[in-house]
Amino acid sequence: MSFTVAIDGPAAAGKGTISRAVANRFDLAHLDTGLLYRAVGAKVLEGMQPREAAEALQAADLEAGNLRTSAVAEAASRVAVLPEVRAALTDFQRAFARRAGGAVLDGRDIGTVICPEAEVKLFVTASPEVRAERRFLELTAAGQEVTRAGVLADVKARDERDSSRSAAPLRPAEDAVVLDTSELDIEAAVAAAVATVAARRG
Ligand code: C5P
Repeated sequence: MSFTVAIDGPAAAGKGTISRAVANRFDLAHLDTGLLYRAVGAKVLEGMQPREAAEALQAADLEAGNLRTSAVAEAASRVAVLPEVRAALTDFQRAFARRAGGAVLDGRDIGTVICPEAEVKLFVTASPEVRAERRFLELTAAGQEVTRAGVLADVKARDERDSSRSAAPLRPAEDAVVLDTSELDIEAAVAAAVATVAARRG
C-alpha cells in the first residue's frame, strides 16, 4: 500500500535531514527532488538546453559529485522556473511517491503540485538568517570558500525566485503542518516531524 510523506520548504530549513530521518524511522523510500533540479542545472552549466537536459535525465546524473555547490544550486533555481523542465520531471516524482511500501519526497512543490493527495504534508521552514548560518557551516565544512554575507544573499535570492515564480511557487499546502525550526535543534525538529507522521500512520 502506498503512503506518501511530502516535505516542502525553503533552502536549508532542515528538510533533507528531517526527510532522511522520517524515511529511516518508518522504513520508507526517500527522494530528494532538489537533486533532480540540481542535476538539470549542472547540465545547463555544461552547455545543454534546460528542456533537453530535463528530458534526458538519468539516475546516474543524480550521483554527479558537484551537485551540492552554490553555483549548481543557483543554476537549479533558474531552471526550476521553466514549466517545461518541471513537466519533464513530474511523472518520475509521482511514480516514486506512489511506490509500494511508501515514500518521503522533499522539495518545494510536493504537497501542492506533485502529490496533493499525500497522506502527510509538512512545510519545514526557518528564518533566512538561521538557514544561511546552517548552510554556511555545511559549505565551509565541505571545504568551499564562502562568506556568511554571500551565503545569506544567495539564500534570499533563491527564496525570492522560488516563491515568486508562476510555475509551482514555493508555498505551504493548505493542509500542511508547518514546522518552524528556527529555534529547534535537529533532534527536536526530527522528533516533531516523526510525531506528525506517526499520528497519521496510525
Ligand atoms: O532543495 P535544493 O536546495 O536542493 O533545491 C535546489 C533548487 O531546485 C531550489 O532552489 C528550487 O529552485 C528547485 N526545486 C524546485 N522544486 C523542487 C525541488 C527543488 O523548484 N521540488
